[in-house]
Amino acid sequence: LIKVDKLEKKFGDNEVLKEIDGTVMAGQVICVIGPSGSGKSTFLRCLNLLEHPTGGKVYFEGKDTETFTESELTTLRERMGMVFQSFNLFPNLTVLENLKLAPMRVKKMSDQEAADKAMSLLKRVGLEEKADVYPASLSGGQQQRVAIARALAMDPEVLLFDEPTSALDPEMVGEVLAVMKGLAESGMTMVVVTHEMGFAREVADEVWFMADGYILEKNKPDDMFNHPQNERAKDFISKII
Ligand code: ATP
Ligand code: MG
Repeated sequence: LIKVDKLEKKFGDNEVLKEIDGTVMAGQVICVIGPSGSGKSTFLRCLNLLEHPTGGKVYFEGKDTETFTESELTTLRERMGMVFQSFNLFPNLTVLENLKLAPMRVKKMSDQEAADKAMSLLKRVGLEEKADVYPASLSGGQQQRVAIARALAMDPEVLLFDEPTSALDPEMVGEVLAVMKGLAESGMTMVVVTHEMGFAREVADEVWFMADGYILEKNKPDDMFNHPQNERAKDFISKII
């Protein structure tokens, strides 16, 4: 579904991503781990072309994204939903309105259709009864579940998560991870930057360890956590588990 070939990203002289290669197949869950500043967020943002790579290629469904027109790039971003650490809901809209907005504006769905879809998604994340409240009245965990539902409202091919639970109080992490696990089980393709090693171990098909702008190791979760091959990965994992 996504293929990355010698991807590079520089901000001025700062080489943040260096020759990243990788493939994400449909239905796969990839967890990206690694120390702060290693380029994980930048990598995600290059996948949906929120950042333009300064070298190498990103292919989506076999097509070189470099050749995409602006409108094709917009479509690409719609097909890759993104969920951030800070939920980024619209504070002046109710939960239901947050979920209806993009489908109505972008997909030209009718109000009724968008509302029906929003309700079924809220059900999926366990928040049907919160449709008419404003985000500020929800807990962090509930807001993040709404943000996930909002990403799903566009029927994305892939969901990209950038540390979706890092801003949450510990008691709310579980409910968000449970929703993500459900998505993974339903066959959603996901790339998840996370510090939740339990989630990575349980849900990921592959774990990618990133440091200094390189992916230093890609491995099955059990192997990554029990016998990492790369020295930096060993060191990182010994410190966090
Ligand atoms: P964290 O775990 O703290 O979220 P990360 O692995 O996600 O870190 P990135 O946010 O990708 O790391 O940042 C990697 C490097 O890229 C940092 O040195 C950062 O300063 C730099 N960087 C990221 N975005 C930009 C930008 N828009 N302009 C300039 N430099 C940037
Ligand atoms: Mg980051």
